[in-house]
Amino acid sequence: MKKRVYIGLGSNCGLKQENLAVARNKITELEGTRIVKSSSLYLTAPWGRTEQEDFINQVIEIKTALEPLALLQGLQEIEIKMGRQRQEKWGPRIIDLDILLFGDEVLDFPELKVPHPLMRQRLFVLVPLQEVNAELIFPDDGAKIKEVLISVLAREGNKKIKRV
Ligand code: ATP
Ligand code: CA
Ligand code: CA
Repeated sequence: MKKRVYIGLGSNCGLKQENLAVARNKITELEGTRIVKSSSLYLTAPWGRTEQEDFINQVIEIKTALEPLALLQGLQEIEIKMGRQRQEKWGPRIIDLDILLFGDEVLDFPELKVPHPLMRQRLFVLVPLQEVNAELIFPDDGAKIKEVLISVLAREGNKKIKRV
């Protein structure tokens, strides 16, 4: 049975929009995988380490027959093929592909945590995710995406993210 999975894409080096397009193409080449929906692209201020270029971020919804760890491996191979080096945490990158949600599974492998542990704090994830699925519910605690987004917006405002 194919699972509905949400992936967060980001780039802040080189031709950022082109990098996301290449990554989306390569994702559709993964076994048993297709893209169902794509959000707009968003220009966002860097998170964590702020003295670097802005990011372009996007969220896509895919259907995949791959198991979670096989999907993670496929995404990491795409990152490496596109020239991503292992760098400092939250540093500049050509492409970053994170698994946000994997069906309604809650996963805690050493190399894969789902839902993505920091996604609830990140407007650059929550805004495009809500665009793709406004009715989304978090599988771990039943929180609604709309409510999570409202609480982060109330804390931070939305100045740091704008639709391209
Ligand atoms: P962040 O996790 O804060 O977004 P990052 O994307 O910069 O940071 P990376 O260097 O890309 O971090 O990845 C570090 C490790 O995170 C990967 O090697 C991977 O094993 C692990 N990881 C854990 N959970 C996930 C997930 N849901 N999606 C992608 N990678 C994950
Ligand atoms: Ca990331
Ligand atoms: Ca990552």
